[in-house]
Amino acid sequence: MRRPNILLSGTPGVGKTTLGKELAAKTNLVYVNVGDLAKEGQLYEGYDEEYECPVLDEDRVIDELEDKMIDGGVIVDYHSCDFFPERWFNIVFVLRTENSFLYDRLESRGYRGKKLQDNIQCEIFQTIYEEAMSSYKEEIVHQLPSNTPEDMERNLDQIIQWIEQWIKDNN
Ligand code: ADP
Ligand code: MG
Repeated sequence: MRRPNILLSGTPGVGKTTLGKELAAKTNLVYVNVGDLAKEGQLYEGYDEEYECPVLDEDRVIDELEDKMIDGGVIVDYHSCDFFPERWFNIVFVLRTENSFLYDRLESRGYRGKKLQDNIQCEIFQTIYEEAMSSYKEEIVHQLPSNTPEDMERNLDQIIQWIEQWIKDNN
């Protein structure tokens, strides 16, 4: 059975991981967290002193995921989206969160100072949405509000419906 590949992207804290895991639990798709994958395989190519975090080795991440993506049925979760092969994804969702909600979520995750401000700015300037719009066909890129638990439920329902329809249309 053919199954679609879905990209969940957006600024840290918007709810990608929560939504992605729920989706995988409710469908026969597999959830992949690119940050965790990189950590497990040490798929890094250096260290960013300013942000105090390792720099992703994008080529090795792509090599690592390629076979899975060809099989289909993968939900990919990452806060950036411009380095994946465009052909991988059947649909791209960019989650969006209002500042006041995002600020609280990032603060309770322990983000402070520049790291907190930069992530809030990233959301204000809709950086990831624009990245997605320039990396994929515009018609497959969708923004989803992710402010409240009700938003989360609605997004889950909508994506599950989309998956079911895609599977009907492609098998
Ligand atoms: P991301 O993976 O995008 O960084 P997470 O899924 O880890 O985001 O969510 C960050 C925090 O925000 C978690 O505590 C999660 O429960 C909460 N959260 C995410 N989405 C929503 C939402 N739509 N409504 C309320 N809380 C949310
Ligand atoms: Mg996450």
